[in-house]
Amino acid sequence: MKILIIEDEKKVAGALRRGLETDRYEVRVAATGEDGFFLVTNETFDLVILDLMLPKRDGIEILAALRKRGLQTPVLILTAKDTVEDRVVGLDAGADDYLVKPFAFPELIARIRALLRRGRTDQVLRLRVNDLEMDLVTHRVTRAGREVELTGKEFELLEYLLRHQGQTISREMLAQGVWQATARATPLDNVIDVTVARLRRKIDDPFDRRLLKTIRGVGFLLGEAAR
Ligand code: CA
Repeated sequence: MKILIIEDEKKVAGALRRGLETDRYEVRVAATGEDGFFLVTNETFDLVILDLMLPKRDGIEILAALRKRGLQTPVLILTAKDTVEDRVVGLDAGADDYLVKPFAFPELIARIRALLRRGRTDQVLRLRVNDLEMDLVTHRVTRAGREVELTGKEFELLEYLLRHQGQTISREMLAQGVWQATARATPLDNVIDVTVARLRRKIDDPFDRRLLKTIRGVGFLLGEAAR
């Protein structure tokens, strides 16, 4: 099992490396987000431990960029900022778990084991709800075996909805998660609504059963139960 630590504080990174090596993990350390990004895109890791406070590009930026490129590797973020907001931002950006500094090493190990276990069954190359399927490798989308042609943005939107299926998704979540908007801008709501409508025409209109539902005043929900 190979773990990448992205952490600029030498002492913390060193302690983590020693601890993890004692537990027989293979460890690489990157001291900047840039180096970490480079390593992740050039080597295969089973898990990434990512510090949020990094010089230049911070952890959230790195994580969002990696997830955007389709990286599925579990990411555990380390954060000194114990506020709900920071956790939500981290999890929204695609983190699988987080740990607040300072933490006890056994807890870190327990979280890592849990993520690695989950990672093995979770290596999703396909996302599916009902008879709607997305192949993340070939980027093909089918419903009831029929190919659905999507634009890049429609694909990203559908992927986000599939990854959050069964949950009510607000326009704000879509603005951040699909359009990478940092602040909520009114004009984006229209863009979101138009894109959702186009996606629905393709994935739902030709079929009997609706999967993508609009929840008035709240947002959208993709799921088996939608009618
Ligand atoms: Ca740091």
